[in-house]
Amino acid sequence: MPEPLDLDGDVVDLLRALIDLESVSGDEAVIADQIEGALRRYGHLQVIRDGNVVVARTGMRRGGAGRVDRVVIAGHIDTVPIAGNVPSWVSGAGPETIVWGRGACDMKGGVAVQLSVAAAVAEPVRDVTWVFYDNEEVEESRNGLARIAREHPDYLAGSFAVLCEPSNAGIEGGCQGTMRAEVELRGVAAHSARAWKGHNAIHDAAVVLGRLAAYEPAQVEVDGLTYREGLNAVKITGGIAGNVIPDRCTIEVNYRFAPNKDAAQAEAHVREVLAGFTVEVTDVAVGARPGLDQPAAAEFLAAVGGEPAPKFGWTDVARFSAMGVPAVNFGPGDPMKAHADDEFCPAADVYRCREALLRWLAPAT
Ligand SMILES: [Zn+2]
Repeated sequence: MPEPLDLDGDVVDLLRALIDLESVSGDEAVIADQIEGALRRYGHLQVIRDGNVVVARTGMRRGGAGRVDRVVIAGHIDTVPIAGNVPSWVSGAGPETIVWGRGACDMKGGVAVQLSVAAAVAEPVRDVTWVFYDNEEVEESRNGLARIAREHPDYLAGSFAVLCEPSNAGIEGGCQGTMRAEVELRGVAAHSARAWKGHNAIHDAAVVLGRLAAYEPAQVEVDGLTYREGLNAVKITGGIAGNVIPDRCTIEVNYRFAPNKDAAQAEAHVREVLAGFTVEVTDVAVGARPGLDQPAAAEFLAAVGGEPAPKFGWTDVARFSAMGVPAVNFGPGDPMKAHADDEFCPAADVYRCREALLRWLAPAT
């Protein structure tokens, strides 16, 4: 049995202990046991274990005297596979300390902050639901947060959510949506010695690519943040042989769209740009509004300080958004280092995030 996690000690030591508990996706039972056991020692938390998801809520033991407002603070406990980077190690000292190891950045720094603050704040100014979930780094169907959203949406109820994914300890609001579509071009095959007998599908691709190359992506303001969209060809296939006029060419396009659009609006836009061609949408995930106009979010911004930035990728904040809960990313570490073999997290980021959450949830302490 590993040493029990100490949530009352130094949060960077806690981060190292979490890294040392290997938890590659699908293998989270040990770390979930440890997190559950550690949280159960605090009487102010009601702890629920569901598969390898652990939920801990304040305000459930006051006989119904919970706060009016509830926020959700979530993080995933799995990592991508180990690359010779466990156990953890440190370099530097004092404010320059860097913690290295699998999950340091994505996202055990955030989980350490969650656990440390969950233990420290018994009477938050707004109630908190702490969520620790499994299988974020693998396919959608295994995602622990998605499963809880389906089976126990009440566990995730709140007016605002924070996902502690790495964001350099700054606030990244919402996230963009993403849509993939295929443009099918059909011609008529012929021997290339008698090209006039056929119709070249690859040549038709020039028209589609010309439109995409000339496309000017919009910059869209949503809840005070500016999102840069993009519509790009990401793959092209076609051609049969060196002496055949091709009758088929497929162009895959990827549309990254601002979170003010739903799936239907995004699809309508792609169809409008590619009018006259056969377009089939193959995959879509809508974005998430940053929701920075919510009172809980405004106080969160004040506690963290700095300027919020838009998130350009897609993250699990969109799951909250789909449930009507606006969400932001806020966590220690540089997202560019997520999944890298030399993954690391600056200790200063971890302390900064912890202090910001404390200022937000327990301003008097
Ligand atoms: Zn992550």
